[in-house]
Amino acid sequence: MKNDGNLYVISTPIGNRDDITLRALQVLKKCDIIASEDTRHSGSLMSHYGIKGTFLSYNDRNKNRRIPLILNMLKEGKNIGLVSDAGTPLISDPGYQIVQAAIKENIEVIPIPGPSAILTALSVSGMPTDAFAFYGFIPKKGKRRKLILNSIGNTWTTSILFESPLRIKETLKAIYEYCGNRKVVLARELTKVYEEFVRGDIEILLQKIDNNEIKLKGEIVLLIEGNKNV
Ligand code: SAM
Repeated sequence: MKNDGNLYVISTPIGNRDDITLRALQVLKKCDIIASEDTRHSGSLMSHYGIKGTFLSYNDRNKNRRIPLILNMLKEGKNIGLVSDAGTPLISDPGYQIVQAAIKENIEVIPIPGPSAILTALSVSGMPTDAFAFYGFIPKKGKRRKLILNSIGNTWTTSILFESPLRIKETLKAIYEYCGNRKVVLARELTKVYEEFVRGDIEILLQKIDNNEIKLKGEIVLLIEGNKNV
């Protein structure tokens, strides 16, 4: 009989620290190791919940060294919780390779669901939610950028992007070029003190940005309404 531990993929808040599930707290408490993107950040979050935890850094820079180590610990029967800095691990965050490696080794990978900026923004966007496409952070240049912009231009579904405040204006202009003057929602600082939703079409948003009516600070999810002619 195998006595492997489990790999738990645990969602944590995207801002408001009250947005964590009871199950996430229970599982985090019982994990032998918490593998996290930034151990200082996660350590401070866990101490807020009264969880001491033993932390191990797992990120895109050290993943190749960490994967064999984590697999060994799982095979020794240790339970490992994977968290990222915010929201659901693996969603534009590290974790995909360790999950893939654990599945290959027949180790049980258990999701502990919770917040993610994607669904949080979509749920109040006022845009159709029955089908949507998520593109993460779109590349700054190259073929994939064009493919994504074309895809946003041609799809009937709501499109969702993560974007930095430094690039949002440029991204809005690129979407305008490929898709015309679509309706968009800029969801900023979700669940935080300065949470803000700016709704309008691209021309209006660009005008507001130029007039400094929108604060381009913090974290942003951009939603683009689907092409109504498709
Ligand atoms: N794993 C996270 C999740 O499930 O939401 C996403 C991590 S990704 C590295 C970070 C990006 O997600 C930010 O740059 C922003 O685009 C978006 N994001 C995360 N938290 C957010 C928030 N509170 N408000 C708005 N956007 C957020």
